[in-house]
Amino acid sequence: MRISDWRKELKESLLWRDTYCYCGKPLVRGVNIDMHEGLVSRGQMMGWPEELKLLTFNELNCILICHTCNIMNPPSRKRVWDDQQKRYGDELEKWYRSLCGLVKGKMQNFT
Ligand SMILES: [Zn+2]
Repeated sequence: MRISDWRKELKESLLWRDTYCYCGKPLVRGVNIDMHEGLVSRGQMMGWPEELKLLTFNELNCILICHTCNIMNPPSRKRVWDDQQKRYGDELEKWYRSLCGLVKGKMQNFT
């Protein structure tokens, strides 16, 4: 599956979880929703092999935010981390730790 298709499917599935943006605006399907890689950014993934990239397009790393916030003021990675940790607990840390073990190069430390 191509990454763009993968992202599209993920975005669809996140509509059930993320109904409001960080700024408080309701997220309206087909109107103002962007998917944001909140912990490991797409820029950071540049040069990674495809199979490693696929490990980041999941509900742990991705959040839905409004288009305005995505362009002007996306939430900090630390804020996303704290939120995701409330949601996913150990699962988040396990995923991130294993990803850090696979990636050569610098990864942000959140804990
Ligand atoms: Zn917003």
